[in-house]
Amino acid sequence: MSLPTPEAHIRAVTETVQHRSPAEPEFLQAVHEVLDTLTPVLAEHPDFIEAGILDRLVEPERQLIFRVPWTDDTGLVRVNRGFRVQFNSALGPYKGGLRFHPSVNLSVVKFLGFEQIFKNALTSQRIGGGKGGSDFDPSGKSDAEVMRFCQSFMTELVHHIGEHTDIPAGDIGVGAREIGFLFGQYRRITQRYEAGVLTGKGVGWGGAEVRTEATGYGAVFFAEEMLLRAGEGIEGRRAVVSGSGNVATYAIEKIQQLGGKAITASDSGGYVVDEQGIDVDLLKRVKGVERARISEYAARRPGAHFVATGSVWDVPAEIALPCATQNELTEEHARTLIAGGVRAVAEGANMPTTPGAVELFQQAGVLFAPGKAANAGGVATSALEMSQNAARSRWDRDKSESRLHDIMRDVHTATYEASERYGRPGDYVLGANSAAFVTVAQAMLEQGVI
Ligand code: NDP
Repeated sequence: MSLPTPEAHIRAVTETVQHRSPAEPEFLQAVHEVLDTLTPVLAEHPDFIEAGILDRLVEPERQLIFRVPWTDDTGLVRVNRGFRVQFNSALGPYKGGLRFHPSVNLSVVKFLGFEQIFKNALTSQRIGGGKGGSDFDPSGKSDAEVMRFCQSFMTELVHHIGEHTDIPAGDIGVGAREIGFLFGQYRRITQRYEAGVLTGKGVGWGGAEVRTEATGYGAVFFAEEMLLRAGEGIEGRRAVVSGSGNVATYAIEKIQQLGGKAITASDSGGYVVDEQGIDVDLLKRVKGVERARISEYAARRPGAHFVATGSVWDVPAEIALPCATQNELTEEHARTLIAGGVRAVAEGANMPTTPGAVELFQQAGVLFAPGKAANAGGVATSALEMSQNAARSRWDRDKSESRLHDIMRDVHTATYEASERYGRPGDYVLGANSAAFVTVAQAMLEQGVI
């Protein structure tokens, strides 16, 4: 049998994806981003080509789309669409968050699920990749409306998840409140206290310490590792951060704890600049407790100001942490950041940097960490939550944070070493994709054609 060259194989698989999913731009972008870096791995592994690993990897094992009817506070019946994409379970049960945001559609869920396969592999925690969500918008809804929506969503999802099959968690629009409502309905329907079926639970009833903080802290730990390797550090440096949700808030907190100064935060209405360094307690109160807009932060903080146009990337800094949403940092933004002297960019969000912007950073010698490596701390800590649930144990904060720190160091080392092995030392995109791909591909190879 004569095999295609790696380049021809990657081209053929990409064309198949484009043919099958012509209207899924985010998914196609995520597939391109991974496949474009895999030539050296496939050159070393013709067995992966022969076994159709890539062909299978780009096709989810299962995709679920379902109706979610619920009643609003005025008595009106509303309908949203629910999704769960169970992408790949070669390394363990499907694991990945749920996103509730009006922009959610199958393309977005598939891009996130595809990314999740590789991210989860990098954590070494034996979890497969999946993702889900709904086009439901929790903002502006009462707690009772959010609860009724979550109960309806879980009434269908319950048939497809379980601690050994698929374990959802939070993402945009899904935090501790939503996980609580989802878990309550799961327990009610199944009549089982299966704590390991969802992660991100309240710490008083099965949640792991530091899970809330883990993604943001982890992204900063990764940025720190990159800078340390280059003989630099975080102390005394300015950081710009986008977003003001879970990931952004704790990225800002960790930057300040390590002696840096995070000076921005944003939401979909604009951004704030606070040259004294963001007051994390105020940020948590405004965005977390009151669920208010970021402009409110500036209104209450002397010296801070709110900007309704442009983006945080207009503010010069040495460290940039995109922590809001996909494709929020474009080529134009990258040029501005580079001109402003940025040294390191670590993605707290999933795919926030456009491909053109990534290329510009790499050409300019900026240390660039892709989300699948830099934001892996969240899912890694979720896996630690699953272990604690299975063992009916509970770790304290110090142990939880120190395990997170160790995992992020290991992810950095594995990623950097793979970048060296495949000929581009310091290319963390190539390193993350190839290290993760080899792990998943090897497991798929050994498990036969399924
Ligand atoms: P949150 O819902 O807590 O916060 C999201 C933040 O991003 C908010 O400030 C929100 O502003 C802003 N945002 C969302 N969508 C848009 C948009 N279309 N345009 C502008 N701003 C937007 O979500 P998380 O912090 O949990 O997630 C942020 C990112 O991190 C996502 O990419 C997610 O996939 C990724 N991630 C999250 C993990 C976690 O553990 N939570 C794990 C790994 C990755 P507004 O309130 O105005 O909508």
